Amino acid sequence: MSVSFRDYYEILGVSRGATEKEIKTAYRKLARKWHPDLHTGKDKETAEEKIKQINEAYEVLSDKEKRAKYDQLGQNWREGQDFRPPPDMDGFQFYTSTGAGAGDSGFSDFFETLFGGGSPFGRQPRTARRTGPVRGQDIESEIELALEEAYRGGEKSLQFTTREACRDCGGTGIQNNAFCRRCGGTGETSGSRTLSVKIPPGVRDGSRIRLKGQGGEGSGGGARGDLYLRVKLLPHSVFKVRGEDLEIEVVLRPEQAVLGDQVSVPTLDGPVLMKVPPGARAGKRLRLKGKGLPHHKGRGDEYVVVKIDIPEHLSAEEERLYRDLASLRKGV
Ligand SMILES: [Zn+2]
Repeated sequence: MSVSFRDYYEILGVSRGATEKEIKTAYRKLARKWHPDLHTGKDKETAEEKIKQINEAYEVLSDKEKRAKYDQLGQNWREGQDFRPPPDMDGFQFYTSTGAGAGDSGFSDFFETLFGGGSPFGRQPRTARRTGPVRGQDIESEIELALEEAYRGGEKSLQFTTREACRDCGGTGIQNNAFCRRCGGTGETSGSRTLSVKIPPGVRDGSRIRLKGQGGEGSGGGARGDLYLRVKLLPHSVFKVRGEDLEIEVVLRPEQAVLGDQVSVPTLDGPVLMKVPPGARAGKRLRLKGKGLPHHKGRGDEYVVVKIDIPEHLSAEEERLYRDLASLRKGV
């Protein structure tokens, strides 16, 4: 039997002397670039093939023992060259593929020949784990919500930007020996995906909404991963969020503060009439019980902070009354 030699260093785009860290970095970068979820149609097939090669290369080069064996062999072979395992090579126990076992792992015949099936490496759990269905990756993203949206919940349509391999250059970034015009040489173009998201009422800043099966695609019949959306509450023009409580300012005229009054105050459930007690000083915090954000035991409170504003234009009568007040105060 013969298979094609694979240059794992070339696949990961690293030098033969690359450190473990360099290999890991290169692998992560390529795995992101060729994630099949970021590609559609024909590009997806390309991406699936690429990611297989990348995984395989990483499987070998990230494992000290496997890499050493591979290095021992690699110097004499070129990528794609017809490969016949040298039978006398020390340390290898070659696996002769009959076609039945090969490919089941998602790895190439080349890999199977060296590390698969009958070889001692093939029985390592790390390889074995990859032969069955593998669940797709969980993906985390962010969702920005206005306070009202988070409080009431409901459905929200979300657009995600996805990166896809450029159709013109097939993700290489090069076309006709020049940088590809469509993608500017990056090899990627951006696309978008729309998802309808159910927002549970009362979600808080930092909580996560799980969208089952909207994450990365599985392999070997494995289920898709989940998509987690981390909630980011947008700043509100009126309410400040303090944990489960809300805070708001109410502006009173001096006589309202002195004598007390009933004032209309906005809450998440609409405006309510609040009683301001006589003698409310600036900075006083008045509590509207149960008008805050929902939590596991009920609801937080809304705090109304008193601010006092001085009228700018007084009528002649108002001014006279203030003067009377002033002279009365002098006498006290
Ligand atoms: Zn391109």
